[in-house]
Amino acid sequence: MLKVLKFGGSSMASAAQYAKVKAIVEADDSRRVVVVSAAGKRTKEDHKITDLLYLCHAHMRYGVSCDSVFGMIRQRYLEIRDELGLKTDLEGEFERIRADMENNLSEAALASRGEYLSARLMADYLGFEFLDAVQWLRFRLDGTVDQDWSYAALRELAAGKKLVIPGFYGALADGSIRTFTRGGSDITGALAAAALDADIYENWTDVSGILMADPRIVENPEPIPRVTYTELRELSYLGAQVLHEDTIFPVAEKNIPLNIRNTNDPAHPGTIIMERFDEDENAPGRRFITGIAGKKDYAVVSISKRGLSSEVGAIRKVFEIFENHGLAVEYTPNGIDAFSIVVPGAKLEKVLHSIVSLLQEKLGPVEVQVKKDLAIVAAVGRRMANRPGISGQIFSALGDEGINIRLISQDPREVNVILGVDNADYAQAVRVLYNSFVK
Ligand code: ASP
Repeated sequence: MLKVLKFGGSSMASAAQYAKVKAIVEADDSRRVVVVSAAGKRTKEDHKITDLLYLCHAHMRYGVSCDSVFGMIRQRYLEIRDELGLKTDLEGEFERIRADMENNLSEAALASRGEYLSARLMADYLGFEFLDAVQWLRFRLDGTVDQDWSYAALRELAAGKKLVIPGFYGALADGSIRTFTRGGSDITGALAAAALDADIYENWTDVSGILMADPRIVENPEPIPRVTYTELRELSYLGAQVLHEDTIFPVAEKNIPLNIRNTNDPAHPGTIIMERFDEDENAPGRRFITGIAGKKDYAVVSISKRGLSSEVGAIRKVFEIFENHGLAVEYTPNGIDAFSIVVPGAKLEKVLHSIVSLLQEKLGPVEVQVKKDLAIVAAVGRRMANRPGISGQIFSALGDEGINIRLISQDPREVNVILGVDNADYAQAVRVLYNSFVK
């Protein structure tokens, strides 16, 4: 049995958090590979080390001294080390980073030092071996990860060992450091779990799993116990962000369960994410809705013309116009001789005139209407599939509260019901759905 663990910035923020990490790792012998983030915020007003490193590089680029920012970074790590009574030679590490900075250290290389230092310290604290990410995580020039190379390298380097690995970065074939986009330590953990065929990937953070709804809208929403990759994709696309969006691909490919856990509440089982669950979907107490997500500020462009439905190629022309303006079409609810395109409002704003005139040019005299300030609300749930009556319940719950539904759409796999409402009704719509289906 092998568990790969990843601890995020808040779990690495202070000596007290390191102690929690150690207790978690030592509670289970199969927790042998640990991926860590840079130190995050201790309080709301605090700074993330990665932000400070980017700031430091920006100072260097403009020829401004970054001594004070660098001092804050140094101090944070020395403090953690000293409080834990460790002997890690951080002074030497910081001298080397300083010297590299004099030699034009790249932005990625400097930004990666947060994870590097965290991993050095955590390896000493746990008595595990430190394995640098540059030794196994290989990027291609186009920014994608060379999975075959990386997996083979890690398998060889990790065999039979207990390891701490820095997240967020790796190296190109020439050894130069490259990072993922922000929050990318999640991906490192997923890649390590996939490379080593782990039994589970535990992603430790500061919430007890993915919440069923946005806590800024719903008071104390419950965490989701189990969610499939497909459901999670739907939920996170519309705003429920706990993981870096590229995290699930390596583990989903190998059907490794991903478990989101809370470092500050390790007894809580958190959320398990898997390709599918072999469970009795009809067992009593099962909810039909896994989660509720949404986003505001969409715009709907409605195109109508008598006879439009029998005009071959009309939809392609419309799509092409949006494509040529760099707009991704998110939803396309249809009528007979009318169909609409839902796009993010701010992006449409800039190209609206050009799009409208091209629509007239390519499709003849069509009527084009634009409605703004639309919010999308999605009720997501694998148990909704093939189950009559769920949409009806959703509509009547919203109708009873006087919320007007402006758009309806459903994924053909029936894992969601997507509704468009006025921006002004958005929060209320989310609350009504939560209260009707979860509480
Ligand atoms: N430290 C990096 C960031 O703040 C990566 C991570 O924590 O996942 O974006």
